[in-house]
Amino acid sequence: MQLKIVDRYKRDCPACLSEDERPLDRYSRDGWNMVQCARCEQVYLNEAPVYEALSEELAWTKQFAKEAARRKQKDPIVQWLDTKTRWRLHMFREDEWGYIAERVEAGRVLDVGCGSVNRIPEQFTPFGIEIEKETAAIANEKMQARGGRAVHAPALDGLEQFEDGFFNGIIMRSYLEHEAQPRAVLEACYRKLAPGGVIYVKVPNFGTLNRAVRGAEWCGFRYPDHLNQFTIPGLKRLAETLGYRFELKNVLTRYTNDNLHSFLIRP
Ligand SMILES: [Zn+2]
Repeated sequence: MQLKIVDRYKRDCPACLSEDERPLDRYSRDGWNMVQCARCEQVYLNEAPVYEALSEELAWTKQFAKEAARRKQKDPIVQWLDTKTRWRLHMFREDEWGYIAERVEAGRVLDVGCGSVNRIPEQFTPFGIEIEKETAAIANEKMQARGGRAVHAPALDGLEQFEDGFFNGIIMRSYLEHEAQPRAVLEACYRKLAPGGVIYVKVPNFGTLNRAVRGAEWCGFRYPDHLNQFTIPGLKRLAETLGYRFELKNVLTRYTNDNLHSFLIRP
């Protein structure tokens, strides 16, 4: 299967919906324009790609492999360091379902962009939304065995397949940066959460020192996969605008971690 971009469309600020943007030329590449919102300072690509047969062919992994090969060619030593870091992060990835356990004791937990799913703590009934068809089928089988299910859909459509107040927790691991409508998704999640429910969000941390050092070569940029670039204050502002309480998880590494880990709590 080929990942083929057949069209693109204009985006307004994904956080505050303003049309007033400033160009960020140093982070624009291959005809994809990175811009900053003049109103709220959110950084984002001002166009999103439309893929042929979106749901079946949008394979993040393929794009990732292509980008990794490109980086390796350009800068082998830094690439080696990046690989070491990624390998370490990948080890932790399995525990990320566990992160929600810090705030949610038990109950129904939804993984948005769940992938094929590794280890799910015993106390949770797992649910998932996954845009890749085959991956969704694998996740669905595993989740049904645990009393839940995974739906094959884009996030907003998938969320509407569950009743309001249904979830005790929601997990967003390396997903929100890909989402063309993160504000609408977080709004919908607020309705789908029970009072006291919590979202765990992991996204690239645009505020990391490493981004300042590496510039356009920073690992948090992928063109055109990463549509949104979040800072800690920016994500906090968006969450609070929608009624959530925001808690940063990686307080000690807030300036050095390439990712930001956070909890969005519905009061
Ligand atoms: Zn904005």
